[in-house]
Formats: sequence, structure tokens, C-alpha cells
Amino acid sequence: MLRTHSAAELGKNILGSLVTLAGWVDRRRDHGGLIFIDLRDRSGVAQVVFNPEHSPTSHALAGDLRSEYVIQVMGEVALRPAGTENPKLPTGEIEVLVKDLKVLNTSETPPFYINEDVEVDENLRLVYRYMDMRRARLKRNIILRHALVRAIRNYFDERGFVDIETPILGKSTPEGARDYLVPSRVHAGKFYALPQSPQQMKQLLMVGGLERYYQIARCFRDEDTRADRQPEFTQLDVEMSFVTEEDVLSLTEELFTMLTQALRPDMRVITPFPRIPYREAMAKYGCDKPDLRFGMEIGDVTEIVADSDFAVFRQTVAAGGVVRGLALPGRADISRSELAELTGLAQSFGAKGLLSMALMGDGVLDHLNMEMVKSVAAKYLTLDQIKQISVHIGAKPGDLILLVADESAVACRVLGRLRGELGVKLGLADPRLFAYCFIVDFPLLAWSQELGRWEAVHHPFTSPVEEDISLLDSAPGQARSRAYDIVLNGYEAGGGSIRIHQADLQRKMFRLMGYTDDQINERFGHLLTAFSYGAPPHGGIALGIDRVAMLFAGEESIREVIAFPKNQQAMDMLFDAPAGVEPGQLKDLHIRPMDD
Ligand code: ASP
Repeated sequence: MLRTHSAAELGKNILGSLVTLAGWVDRRRDHGGLIFIDLRDRSGVAQVVFNPEHSPTSHALAGDLRSEYVIQVMGEVALRPAGTENPKLPTGEIEVLVKDLKVLNTSETPPFYINEDVEVDENLRLVYRYMDMRRARLKRNIILRHALVRAIRNYFDERGFVDIETPILGKSTPEGARDYLVPSRVHAGKFYALPQSPQQMKQLLMVGGLERYYQIARCFRDEDTRADRQPEFTQLDVEMSFVTEEDVLSLTEELFTMLTQALRPDMRVITPFPRIPYREAMAKYGCDKPDLRFGMEIGDVTEIVADSDFAVFRQTVAAGGVVRGLALPGRADISRSELAELTGLAQSFGAKGLLSMALMGDGVLDHLNMEMVKSVAAKYLTLDQIKQISVHIGAKPGDLILLVADESAVACRVLGRLRGELGVKLGLADPRLFAYCFIVDFPLLAWSQELGRWEAVHHPFTSPVEEDISLLDSAPGQARSRAYDIVLNGYEAGGGSIRIHQADLQRKMFRLMGYTDDQINERFGHLLTAFSYGAPPHGGIALGIDRVAMLFAGEESIREVIAFPKNQQAMDMLFDAPAGVEPGQLKDLHIRPMDD
């Protein structure tokens, strides 16, 4: 090694030792003849001092050092002179008195500050990702991700799971996204699809009798990139034979509890994780990935206002719509401009409007009178109706009620998104809580207006609840699935299901989803055949490693926990990919560019 110690290893326990360090020039300061360098390596920073009286050659050489030069220094560990210690630095009590300096490499002026935590344009960070990695934040996140994955591997290894790799070049498996396709050179006009997930493979591993499988698997989905979505991402993929929902959920709950304790001991976890039926989640939180770090539940007041004198309410209800709302605690004094902003936000989520009702006063609902109610709807409602609304929504005097009158789906979506935004913005989310929950009892199928057929809510391999199987013939939309999601702080951290393991039921599902028998045989024949050779009951789950790492790192974008992410336009800025290829390569692949 070109070093005897890493920077952060140095301390008072080795005063007087001769050490050799190797790393980067983080910062240089010249002071009254002495040159001070903060030498940085992966572990941290140590101060090294060049004194012309100790080593004139090194001192002279140190005068030429610039930020990000790579150096090797040999010297003696000494206490910093009294009064010059840096209590903010783990190595702040000591310094290295340099006897010898070697410059291992020079550096151009860095494109941005490495040693300061200042905001830098993200595309610039992505172009110079290797420089960004030298900064504390990304380095910390990458190392945290490593610790997360290692803890996951240990956890599954200890429980008898086998880590099995599955192919990247395969056949399309529907997870609801567009496939990335790879043209075949050998088979003209044919394509491999990159896996949207190893779903069918892991099921086949169960048919193969492996019983307990896991993999840190790369998945590819050609979807629009977002803060929590990349074209390629990493899943912890798990599958087990001879299990029920209970087994998968308790394995998952134990995993997340362990991970939180190991990596974020500062965060509270409430166990058992609540299990919320899908319908209840939609009604109370307006979405199937509720942020439970705060309450602010949605209340339905349709029945209370159905016959009221307020025309908007009466007409909406008469047309089959609903009136629902939520309360912003302590915000009765909201300003006009803030209210206008909220209305704009609600409209951007698809609401026609937002009705506000400010309840002035002291927190006691019994004390409420009409003078205390500020709302355009107030004069059309009775005090009793307003009190009932308040009770249903959990509002008290001092709070601001926001109401949406619309179709059920719209009201649900608008209030769900308002709740998500405002809970965090108003500081209602407990910052020391990792709020996990499971969402269960999803519907099996949803009717797609656009496609004119049923679509699997989870994916087509998910089993219906046993007693709902007969509904597949009479009322498919009412069948419940054996799927579940795990949610953390308002993010879907993963999902899975108990699978179909009988060929005829699987065929029925595909038919419901509009596949012809020929299409079924062509696309899924291998799976149906496998199911006909004694497939065991099985189920599993997949967790988004990027999202979990993001939440554990306290970041808001998964790009912050991926070493080489794509930007928001799905581009690799460092390599400048995707890129054009040689005409010869296209010819090999039997591809002719379209000339338009
Ligand atoms: N394959 C599913 C997904 O990627 C997860 C699962 O069902 O295990 O969402």
C-alpha cells in the first residue's frame, strides 16, 4: 500500500508515530511560512503541515499543490498547538508534521467545489460524477447503500434463502411498463426484452423446487423518469414456496425493523406495521401509499350536506358525486394569498375548486357559533351541519377545513395529494419516525377504458382470493387479490403477492386480460406448461432498493443513492448515452433506420 494509515484512523493514541498517508488535497492554507493541507481520503480528512525548518524540499514542493492533487506524505503524528484544535473534525486534535511529500498526480481546477456542501447543478454533477463522489454527501450515500444491501444479504442468507441470478436477456414479462428491447443479430427480426422484473423466473425457481430465493436484481422499465423512478433500477426480489400472505408480510416486517435499527437507529418504528385495506387507504388518505407520519385523515361529509342549501354540494351529490375534506390544524388564520395558492394546487391535481371553511376560536367545538365560521358556504349551512362536518373531518375551532365536491375518484385523488404535500410542508410529519404500513386487499383487476379490457392491478400472476375465484366469471371487478404493498413515509417501498400456481386459473386470468389463446400460448406457454408439472403454492415480494436507500439516506431523489444514475431525460451524462452507432452495427442487427 502507498499508505500506512487512512486519514480518519489518526488520533492521539499514535502520537509520535511515523505514518504515511495518501489522498487528495482538500484545502490548502499558507500561514506565516507554514503550509497546511487538509489531506482527504475515503475515510475523512487529516491536517498535514509543511514546515521549511523540518523539510525544506517538501515545503517548497507543497507551494505548488492545488485542490485535488493526489499526494503521498510521510510524517510524524503530533498534537496541534493549544488553541488551534478543530473540535468539528474527528482528527481535529492532531496533525502530521511532514518529512516527505510525493505528488502522485496533478489535477485540473475542479468543475465545482469538492470540499464545500454547496448546491451544484445536477447535470454538471452527473457529467463529473467521479468528482461528485469525492464529496461527502454522495460518498456517504453510496456507502450507506452498501451497508443496506449487505444487511439484506445477511438477513436472507441466515434464513435459508438462495441467491440466484436470472437472465437479463429474456422475453417480455408484463409488469405494466414498456419493455426495453435488444435486437438479435443471430435471429433476424427477433428481440430479447430486458426484464421489467424477474417475476416469471422466480416463479419457475419455485416450480424447480428451490423453495426460498432472493436476488438483488436489476430491472428495466421504459417509463418517464421521475425523482423516484429510473429506467433501470434495483429490486430486492424474493420468492418462497408453501407460504401464505402472513409469512411474506412477517418476513418483510422483520427485515425493515432490523434494517431501521441497524442503519437508522435514530428513527422510531411502530410495530406491528398497520395493515390497511386498499379501500380504507383510498378513503382515509386518498392514495394507496399513505404517509402515516401525520394524521390529517380525509372525512366524507356527503350525507351531511346532501340536502343542504349550498347548491354546489346539493348538485354534486345529486349527480352521484361526493363531498370530502380534511383539516389543516391551527390554520384558520390562513391568508387570502395562501388560500389562493392552495386552490391553484387543488386545481392542478384536477379539482374544479376548493371550498375552505375557517373555524375561528379556541379549540372547543362546543363553543363554535356562526360568527366564528368563515366560508362562502357558511350562510347556506346550519351550525349543526358545520359541527357535524367538523366531527367527521376531525376539525376543531382554530383549524381550516378544505372541502372538495366532485366525482369520488377525483375527490380522492385531489385530497390525497393535498394531504401528502401539506402534511410535510406544514411540518406535521414526525421527523423521527419511519412510518411503515402494509396495504392489503387490493382489487385483482381494473377496467381500462382506454384498452377496453381488464388489466391486472398488480400483475397477471397474482392470485385472486380463494372465495372470489367464482367472481372472475360473474363480476371480475369485484374479485380481491392476494397482493400486498409495503409503504414507508408515503413511498411505495415494495409489493408482492401470493401467486397463481394452477395452469387453468392462470389461463383464465390471461383471457380476462384480453389475450387470445394463441397469444397466451406464444407468450406464456412455457409458464403454463411448467404449472402443469406440479407447481407448488408460492408467493413473494420485491422491494425497491433505490427508494429504500433514498429514504434511509434522507434524500428526496433516488439519483442521490445511485453511483451512475440517468438524468431526468433518461440520459447518462457521463458517457453521453444513449448514443448513435455505426451503420455496420445496425446492419448486423438487421435494422434499417427510418428515413422520414
Ligand atoms: N414482480 C413484482 C414487481 O416487480 C413484485 C412481486 O410480485 O414480487 O413489482
